[in-house]
Amino acid sequence: MPEEEGTLVEIATYFGRKLGEYKTTCPVCERGEFLVTEVEYEVPALGPVLIVSKRCVTCGYRRNDMIPLRSSRRTRIYLRVERPEDYRAKVFRSPFARVIIPELGLDLKPGAAAEMFVTNVEGILRMFLEAVEKYEVLEGVSLERLKEHLTSIIENQVRSLTVVIDDSEGASVCVPEPGSKPMIVVETV
Ligand SMILES: [Zn+2]
Repeated sequence: MPEEEGTLVEIATYFGRKLGEYKTTCPVCERGEFLVTEVEYEVPALGPVLIVSKRCVTCGYRRNDMIPLRSSRRTRIYLRVERPEDYRAKVFRSPFARVIIPELGLDLKPGAAAEMFVTNVEGILRMFLEAVEKYEVLEGVSLERLKEHLTSIIENQVRSLTVVIDDSEGASVCVPEPGSKPMIVVETV
């Protein structure tokens, strides 16, 4: 998702404060120019985090990391999606976050090598669709009906649902589209 990763630093810079930007040699291809950007970003009600974005223009390697600057408690974010514009609410998902959509019985645990990423509700649903496809391959099963159901929700964007982000480090955040006011509840556990 190069486009989404590109917007991460832009959004974080808009809401936060750029601390520094420096260039070094890419550790992956060992010849490209490696750009490292550090942005401090204030997560509402949770405190400051550092977003470190690294990318190489030569080999295309990129990675975003999010480091909480203050030790925070576990949080659960409930984002209620009712209208098509709510599907465009931005979701910053930290590597520690589990994503649950109770109405659809979907639950995605954080991966071992997961990195911080920014997406929206539509992107979350596509992530689940990919996970279902991976599961089909691994388990040798067919989940056509579930995939059709997910695809129709993504295409029509009229289904009401709740996205729950359960983050053990309290580092994830939801930012609604300007002009849209979905219900967002942040609970510290
Ligand atoms: Zn490189």
